[in-house]
Amino acid sequence: CVDFLPKMDAFSGDALWHSVGAALQKRREAQDDRRKLERRMDQLAHLADQDPLTGLSNRRCLDRLFKGRRINSDRRGRVSVLMLDLDHFKDINDRHGHDCGDRVLRTVADMLRDCARQKDTVCRYGGEEFVIIRPGTSHAEAVHFAEMLRERIAQLELRSGYQRVPVGVTVSIGVVNCAGSSLGPDMISRSDAAMYLAKQRGRNRVGTWPMVLFHETADRVVSSSRRPVDECLREVLRLTREHLGRTQWQHLTTHSQYVSELAVRLGEALGSDEGDLERLRVAGLGHDLGKFLIPEEVLAKRGALSEEERALLSRHAGDGAEMFLMLAADPAAADYIRSHHARCDGPGAVDGRDHAIPRGARILGVA
Ligand code: GH3
Ligand code: MG
Ligand code: MG
Repeated sequence: CVDFLPKMDAFSGDALWHSVGAALQKRREAQDDRRKLERRMDQLAHLADQDPLTGLSNRRCLDRLFKGRRINSDRRGRVSVLMLDLDHFKDINDRHGHDCGDRVLRTVADMLRDCARQKDTVCRYGGEEFVIIRPGTSHAEAVHFAEMLRERIAQLELRSGYQRVPVGVTVSIGVVNCAGSSLGPDMISRSDAAMYLAKQRGRNRVGTWPMVLFHETADRVVSSSRRPVDECLREVLRLTREHLGRTQWQHLTTHSQYVSELAVRLGEALGSDEGDLERLRVAGLGHDLGKFLIPEEVLAKRGALSEEERALLSRHAGDGAEMFLMLAADPAAADYIRSHHARCDGPGAVDGRDHAIPRGARILGVA
């Protein structure tokens, strides 16, 4: 009920008009109050979703976005998740104080915000941990972006008076790429696992989800039996087959088998001893292991590779050597894998000298 008028008074004098006017006024005030309240609620929700130190979104905001499925991604496309954790950050607090630590966190956050696109979500996930969600990006693009962030963070400077002082902080980054429709907390866990692997492998690195998959499987296979490296390799590939594309599988099996046989025959023709022939055989079998980390769409691509895809492909020799070592392989054979794409007249060679490239790597390269 807004008002009450006795029937007798309704048509006499201004009583009705007063009553209608008062009712309209009341309604206007109520609408104003509601709008103010809604604005205040929006402000509070925004503040509750924001990290006060850096102004980035916080973890609560990310959780809400996942729950409400409101991440700005193309559900039909791919999306990348990056988890960043600053290395040995506690040392910065211990050596320079928490205020300095806070300034470093703000500087890193500003840099991440500058590098992100408008449709990316950049979030301070924990103390010195950040998450970036990049809709519409491929695995190759995400790794390239992560490498760029890693390099920029290592070069960060703080302003001190008129001077600029290097911060001297590095970051470990985990990367996962998935279909937009499967984006959720699971992908955060995967990027976290990839980040921890990057820490384990020496920090100031980028780790990826396929690397975690390989690492976990290799760990299980190697610790459950003391089999020779070629058997471990075969078993790991068998256990992970469902995750590998046709081209990936072909490179890691048929092609590698062929390269292994050719490398041994070349070694024999060059007079290699028994030990070296065995190293050539197993290194041939594992020489393309790094391609485990390269998505099928890059390996099977018919057209020219993009800059990001080429950069990803160029990592396979170094990654392959590290993965081979995870199978408890002979480090000398792993060195053959690491250098199998190095050429004595390639970049880095001085006056045609090629002593740094092991002979086994050159045989593998020719094979
Ligand atoms: P790791 O390379 O293994 O990640 O080493 P770490 O030292 O970075 O990791 P750890 O988890 O041991 O320490 C994280 C540190 O981050 C401890 C904590 O004091 C600091 N930290 C967390 N939040 C803040 C913050 O808001 N401000 C400051 N200054 N420091 C913070
Ligand atoms: Mg941490
Ligand atoms: Mg840390």
